[in-house]
Amino acid sequence: MSPHSFLVHHTNYIPSNQFIPVFYRSLTMTRSTRSKYFADAANFRFSTVSSSDQIEQKPSSTKIPKMLKPHPVAKLTGRKRKSSENVTAPDNWEKVYDEIRLMRKNIVAPVDTMGSDSHTHKDPKLGRFHVLISLMLSSQTKDTINAVVMDRLKERGLTVQWILDIPEAELDEIIHPVGFHRRKAGYIKRAAIILREKYDDDVPPTLEKAMELPGVGPKMGVLLMHSAWNQNIGIGVDVHVHRISNLLGWVSTNTPEKTRMCLQSWLPPDRWQEINHLLVGFGQVICLPRGRKCEECRLSNGLCPSVSFSPKKTRRAGTGKQIDRVTEEKIKIELPDVEDLAKVI
Ligand code: SF4
Repeated sequence: MSPHSFLVHHTNYIPSNQFIPVFYRSLTMTRSTRSKYFADAANFRFSTVSSSDQIEQKPSSTKIPKMLKPHPVAKLTGRKRKSSENVTAPDNWEKVYDEIRLMRKNIVAPVDTMGSDSHTHKDPKLGRFHVLISLMLSSQTKDTINAVVMDRLKERGLTVQWILDIPEAELDEIIHPVGFHRRKAGYIKRAAIILREKYDDDVPPTLEKAMELPGVGPKMGVLLMHSAWNQNIGIGVDVHVHRISNLLGWVSTNTPEKTRMCLQSWLPPDRWQEINHLLVGFGQVICLPRGRKCEECRLSNGLCPSVSFSPKKTRRAGTGKQIDRVTEEKIKIELPDVEDLAKVI
């Protein structure tokens, strides 16, 4: 029975002011659950409905179904998925995606040459360790800074043993240019102990195990599985992916984690590994966090709802100097790119 025919059928039982809530409740159910719900409702006969007032609670035996199964990442983080995070694919997403791919072909972004996945080594195990360290250093840090610090570490012979040997204060000094360096030095020291004890100096082979390392959250874990083990297990959503996905109208979310859940609900899995790199580079060169280059963007021709061509100029008080009024993103990021630092020691 469809929600509409159900309502028509029970017109005599349901007070008019309850049609809308009952109707919408039934809309959120799968077909099979809706049938059960209707059957239970019919048995209940709405006998507790007063003639002048409201419908009572539905029978206790009728359960509202869980509409969405948690994604494995959500499962790992203990976070429940909300229905608002299950969005349908935007009509023109493939066209937009292809245009971004085209633009990315013609630009070299910092992430292309200095991103975490650019660290390779003739010893694959050591290469994976370098990827892990690069990722652990990367939150709240530009790729350019991260690359300089990684070079410093490699020059000194970056291995698990070297990390185990070096005093934490000295490691902190070396990685000083990156954000949250003191905390990261502690994480790296503790991670090295775990890698030695449990993984023979290698990187954990699963997301679940990777997230047991200090400072490694879902985003970093997903990227680590992509780069170190070529496992396509989800989308690594950083501030660029989060910001641009919202600008394009692909999602409407206020945290990277919600963006991940939304994107994963409609983006085909064969794009999951690619999209982070694609959008990060796009966000570094064209769709910048400040001063987006819409004039140079192929999406400005009706494909992007956030296009903004001529930022108005205003004068900075007291200086007479013109400044761009488009100085900050409208998209609020409640969880900035420190989610991987959320696991405080
Ligand atoms: S048109 Fe502007 S806002 Fe939209 S994706 Fe391109 S650069 Fe970003």
